[in-house]
Amino acid sequence: MLAADDMEGRETGSPGLRKAEAYIVEQLKQAGLQPAGTNGFYQPVKFVSRRIVEKDSSASLVRNGKAEPLVLGEDVIFSTRVDLAPEVEAPLVFVGYGLSIPEKNYDDLAGFDLKGKVAVLFSGSPAEMPGSLASHYQTRKERWKALRNAGAVGIISIPNPASMDIPWPRIALSRTQPSMDLADPEFDETKGEKLAMYFNPAHADKLFQGSEHTFEEIAALGKDRKPLPRFALAASIRTTAKVERKGVESANVVAALPGADPRLKKEYVVLSAHVDHLGIGEPIHGDRIYHGAMDNASGAAVLLDVAASLKRSSQRPKRSLLFLFVTAEEKGLLGSKYFAARPTVDPNSMVADINVDMFLPTHPLKVLTVYGLEESDLGDMAREVAGAYGIAVEADPQPLRNVFIRSDQYNFIVHGIPALAMAVGNTTDEERKLHKEWLTNRYHAPSDDVNQPVDLSAAAAYEEVVRGLMIKIADEGRRPEWKSDSFFRRYEKAAGQ
Ligand SMILES: [Zn+2]
Repeated sequence: MLAADDMEGRETGSPGLRKAEAYIVEQLKQAGLQPAGTNGFYQPVKFVSRRIVEKDSSASLVRNGKAEPLVLGEDVIFSTRVDLAPEVEAPLVFVGYGLSIPEKNYDDLAGFDLKGKVAVLFSGSPAEMPGSLASHYQTRKERWKALRNAGAVGIISIPNPASMDIPWPRIALSRTQPSMDLADPEFDETKGEKLAMYFNPAHADKLFQGSEHTFEEIAALGKDRKPLPRFALAASIRTTAKVERKGVESANVVAALPGADPRLKKEYVVLSAHVDHLGIGEPIHGDRIYHGAMDNASGAAVLLDVAASLKRSSQRPKRSLLFLFVTAEEKGLLGSKYFAARPTVDPNSMVADINVDMFLPTHPLKVLTVYGLEESDLGDMAREVAGAYGIAVEADPQPLRNVFIRSDQYNFIVHGIPALAMAVGNTTDEERKLHKEWLTNRYHAPSDDVNQPVDLSAAAAYEEVVRGLMIKIADEGRRPEWKSDSFFRRYEKAAGQ
């Protein structure tokens, strides 16, 4: 339904997404839920949209005074997630992984003069770094904070071929789609970042020409998460960027099911999923609609199913439940960022967030991957609930992909609220291979549609675990807590809880 052609890929701000949200609101009403937005079920959110105009933009490397033009799309892509400056010319420095991690006394930027320069970095992190720390410091905000403090004016990222979900040609295909940011400047995390680009790893040797190292060498080290050398490059980057800007309006959808306990009903367990996807874009195999069936019509459907099942069973958990359908996840977790900063319920009343995003029921559910398994009581609860269904749990098997910070749960985490996300785990080499193929071919492509194979038993089992976990959290006497040794506990203190 949500992935049907007439939803047009549910792009933030589009009629297709509005239609999908209207359908969700209808379903929520039928499930007997109460509106919990600021405007009925809706919480309106304002965005600024930015799109690169490539015909009026250019990039080149300047070496010994000579400019070598770069091909947009083939060599490099501008990222309009930051507000690009019209013109930049700056020397380049290769800063390895480009990470500053004070907890581990680790600093790739130490000893470099980055003032007025553009940092070139290789995505990833050294093996010694725990996944959560590495993920946290690779967020746009933390990355830029460290680089800005070091004086840098921009970032060129070279994706790590060992952990790229989407092959370069497909990334390049969507490069002129608009990016978005929250309109309120309070949310600007990249102030002063004049340039942001991705460099095609297949052509990255261009950056390294004339330096003491080759890209081949860097990629081989990075693949195994080994330490990377850091050094000044022999080139500068020169860019002209023409950006089209406009305002866009969209909304989160919020619904509540009041709890049964007179005292605990003041608290909420949040179940969240993003509704937006990528909209209509460049055609692949003749299809222009990026349906987003797994990503994340499936997650929104889980929320609706859980809501409907609670009505049928007339089961009333002690705490209240909050069903949150966010917008603009694909634009950088923006709808959830807005909600977590300006929640429609008392911020201290939210005891946990369970986020459902692309849980991929493509084969039977034997092992549940729990992102954040070791971080809070929620992990233990998930283990117990899944165990009752004969399902084992595992922590993130691929920490390099940064999944824990790549979906909406992250915005609850940074506001001190314990959160986790779960997906159908892979247990055999065959399943791992299919998973990789799914990412390569269908993830963020039109073929993530309703015609792909789905294991309905896995989807049903997953839904049971989500529902069971939500009710368990709601009925528990005390609120879930971060583990005393969890990195993410710091946010709880910052939020004053
Ligand atoms: Zn997505």
